[in-house]
Amino acid sequence: MTVQGNILVAGTLLVAPFIGSFIGTLVEDLPRGRLLARRRSRCDACATPLGPADLVPLASFLLRRGRCAHCGAAIPRKLLLIELAVLLLAVVIAVLDPAGPLVPLDFAFAATLLALALIDLDCLRLPDALTLPLLLAGLAATALRQPEALGAHAAGAALGYLGFTGLRLLWRRLRGIDALGAGDAKLLAAGAAWLPPAALPWAVVIAGLAGLAGLAGFAVWSVLRAEAGSVGLMQQRLPFGPALAFGLLMMRLAT
Ligand SMILES: [Zn+2]
Repeated sequence: MTVQGNILVAGTLLVAPFIGSFIGTLVEDLPRGRLLARRRSRCDACATPLGPADLVPLASFLLRRGRCAHCGAAIPRKLLLIELAVLLLAVVIAVLDPAGPLVPLDFAFAATLLALALIDLDCLRLPDALTLPLLLAGLAATALRQPEALGAHAAGAALGYLGFTGLRLLWRRLRGIDALGAGDAKLLAAGAAWLPPAALPWAVVIAGLAGLAGLAGFAVWSVLRAEAGSVGLMQQRLPFGPALAFGLLMMRLAT
């Protein structure tokens, strides 16, 4: 392992919890159009301004035992879980690529996919504000590292976008419903910018299987909560973004 590789891996692991903290704010604020307008700078319960120590991810939560130091109100667990998930992503990526050169890139890809998946789960949207920069970053990374592959990646992105959009319009015509969102096509295109074209079909297959597994899990959960009857499982709108993000990440890490 080179010194440079070590620095890249260590830097990614150090930065990961802060990225997690940022993603926690992003997934709350981006769909609601208040990005950067509201900093997580006060306790939600008593409005006491948070000190610098309260803004250190993970450590502050442990230090305060999950409660506001001033009023004792519980700090939302969701933020802690997101910070842990992002750190876990960084650890897995570092373990898979101990030499290090691609760790920061893979981590940036994975963290953006996680943010997209969480937003899609929350409000059935994949914001352009994330998918389009992800597409451009993927093309830029390919242009820098493998300029000879740029054409193939760009073609993959165009084909992926057109393929999903075609399916969406066809299904709408045949069945009158949107089985895929417009954001799913953009996410697939963004993934294609990062993946070798041959990996793209596999990413879609993994996404389909993950989607089915998610659907089965949702069905079981609905039955357990006895909610399926009234709403009708097949009428539920379920996000495909998390499954697609999973498929893209698996293929990125496998190739
Ligand atoms: Zn408080």
